[in-house]
Amino acid sequence: MATQTNLAINPRRLWETIHDTARFGATAKGGLRRLAASAEDKQVRDWFRAACEAAGCTVTVDRVGNMFALYPGRRPDLKPIAVGSHLDTQPTGGKFDGILGVLAGLEVIRTFAEMGYQTSAPIMVINWTNEEGSRFPPAMQCSGVYAGALDLEAALATPDHDGVTLGEALEAIGYVGTEPVRPDRFQALFELHIEQGPILEAEGVTIGAVQGVQGIRWHEVTLRGQDAHTGATPMAMRRDALCGMAAMVCALQDIGRRHAPGVASVGMVENRPNSRNVVPGEVFFTADIRHPEEAVLDAMEAEFLAALARAAGENGLDVEQRRNWHSPAIAFDPVLIECVRRGAERAGYVPRDILSGAGHDAAYLAPLVPTAMIFVPCEGGISHNEIETATLEDCGAGTQVLLNAILEYDARLG
Ligand SMILES: [Zn+2]
Repeated sequence: MATQTNLAINPRRLWETIHDTARFGATAKGGLRRLAASAEDKQVRDWFRAACEAAGCTVTVDRVGNMFALYPGRRPDLKPIAVGSHLDTQPTGGKFDGILGVLAGLEVIRTFAEMGYQTSAPIMVINWTNEEGSRFPPAMQCSGVYAGALDLEAALATPDHDGVTLGEALEAIGYVGTEPVRPDRFQALFELHIEQGPILEAEGVTIGAVQGVQGIRWHEVTLRGQDAHTGATPMAMRRDALCGMAAMVCALQDIGRRHAPGVASVGMVENRPNSRNVVPGEVFFTADIRHPEEAVLDAMEAEFLAALARAAGENGLDVEQRRNWHSPAIAFDPVLIECVRRGAERAGYVPRDILSGAGHDAAYLAPLVPTAMIFVPCEGGISHNEIETATLEDCGAGTQVLLNAILEYDARLG
């Protein structure tokens, strides 16, 4: 009989599973293109369902395609402890973002099955639909629907670039499940993920105990001035929208720098008419502002809006602006963070407290059930890129800590 102290995951098996499943949507440059509800997504979903069933799980799918693999516990009266992430990727994504969290869950189940071990609570491994949001915006869509933060019908009606809706795409691959979307399937959630930033690698730390996810606010702005001849229009008589936008690039950089660890960026710019001898009459740009505290985020956003009014005034521009997305700052559950910390220490690691710079499915779940995340380093801090990579040792370490954290939490259930 396995005891809690000899439950060691198999890092080599995990590594081979990650690379084996990377054939579904493999790109020439060694990355993945596995857009939500695509043919490649179907392939990996079918594989995942079969692998979970082979390990002793029952797999159910809800109406937005979220997959729940349930491994029985000793006490069926307890709600499951969930682990999960996502198997979809960016159009030129990597083999680890999201995938590690799902396949680590499978590795935990395989370890339990192989050792004949059962936790008190059942274990649930989840594959959330459309975390990336690159085919169907927004990101973290179907964990958001699960948590009640996003509307089910609106999500299913979201069109991709070709006008195919998420609902139609899921139907086409056979993943509109029969199960209703309901937010009471599990009592706690751990998500293992690559850091997607450079901190752990730079400090030589293997395990990040994630304290929370910073709040995110997105704005879309159109500045309107006047198209005019660059040679014939005196400087004093111009209404140059690009000059206004340029001031905003600097203003956002300044706002980010003054509110560390906050960040602020212009990510997308459309300059119109974008001709070399026309003073630009219209510019569209996006702003992305993040901070772990809502109050500071409020202040950063207020400074952004003040700078926008100033830039428009100085350049004689009209402003059209709207906040098109926000994700509140999230603090993870202290008890689950403690489970991660102890789990890491038991595996021989000194974990580092860290905040998540990126959004994650876990952020939507945190207001609903106790939630925490574990980070492992990725090379150069790079993700959303075909060259994204992590080591066998670090993936194995994160998965062992995930298993240990589950045991820590389970032990508290009695
Ligand atoms: Zn991810």
